[in-house]
Amino acid sequence: MDRVYNFSPGPSQLALPVLEKAQKELLAYGSTGMSVMEMSHRSKMYTDIYDRAVADLKDLMAIPEDYEVLFLQGGATLEFSAVPLNLMVNKKADYIDSGNFAHLAAEEGKRYGTVNVVASSREDNYTYIPDLKSITFTPGADYLHITQNNTIYGTRYVELPESDAPLVCDASSMILSETMDVSKYGVIYAGAQKNIGPSGLCVLILRKDLAGHAMNICPKLMNWQVQVEKGSMYNTPNTWGIYVAGLTFQWLKEMGGVAAMEKINIEKAALLYDFLDNSKLFKPTAQKKYRSRMNVTFVTGDADKDAAFVKAAAAEGLVNLKGHRTVGGMRASIYNAMSIEGVQKLVAFMKEFEAKNA
Ligand SMILES: *Cc1c(COP(=O)(O)O)cnc(C)c1O
Repeated sequence: MDRVYNFSPGPSQLALPVLEKAQKELLAYGSTGMSVMEMSHRSKMYTDIYDRAVADLKDLMAIPEDYEVLFLQGGATLEFSAVPLNLMVNKKADYIDSGNFAHLAAEEGKRYGTVNVVASSREDNYTYIPDLKSITFTPGADYLHITQNNTIYGTRYVELPESDAPLVCDASSMILSETMDVSKYGVIYAGAQKNIGPSGLCVLILRKDLAGHAMNICPKLMNWQVQVEKGSMYNTPNTWGIYVAGLTFQWLKEMGGVAAMEKINIEKAALLYDFLDNSKLFKPTAQKKYRSRMNVTFVTGDADKDAAFVKAAAAEGLVNLKGHRTVGGMRASIYNAMSIEGVQKLVAFMKEFEAKNA
């Protein structure tokens, strides 16, 4: 069976060489005679896989020496709770509400202390990133939380806010798609299923001094200090997920690294937005300045036409283009593993559909 072009927001398309390598090694990894799924997480063969994944991620993102990389469970969502549980020493934190996941993170934070939503675009259905210059940050806040790419609404930060508090970033739908200056952040976390690997896994990049402050009620498994000491292995980690993540990191290095991917991603996004800006049928929904390079949201303005488009595209092997119900219309998620060719095919099909339906 032929593979489709999968524009799913997550879990998303993985790079074909990653899947092929995992397939090739599925029954017997190297000379071990067993699958990665069957290995002890404490074995030398597995810790080699783990160590290489950590080293390759550090290399890809130029992660400074004073940061730790952890592979945790519970996806990005469990970190909505882990962040306050580990960082809310003074019981107050700032959040910028730029989308659905940003909102959920802030709501979760409220269980553990005072959450100040210092800026929000919620009233305008999150079509832009709030103005960062006009924010008054809370003195003594334990951290400032942002969601750097808003997966559902298709917006991205074009610059970072400047607060005195450590910057905590949900990078789930943009990690490894563009270069990030890690030293500007206290914590970066990302659910793996968009740009890294299987779901359930969360990559956490943590400035070392931010570990060791967890509340007493913090479950031990969610305590970053414990996980730093145990090398992400306080309990059995998602061994298979980490292995596939490692394969993605190797593939990214072969592709030339994050800066090379960023170039391709800019090109992919431009292909779609240039078409949308000139289309007689389709309209982009996010404000131009804040357009995401990973999640491109658009509508026709007619729900029946939207549905017809999504259906017709799927018949051509361009699948999972339906937008989130809160935005409607369509969303093309074009993470690292989506090729330029896939985006070209999508644009060509949109042109065809437009000619018949505008
Ligand atoms: C997908 C996503 C999440 C949720 O990730 P899970 O792994 O399902 O918990 C959180 N934040 C952002 C920005 C996302 O895109």
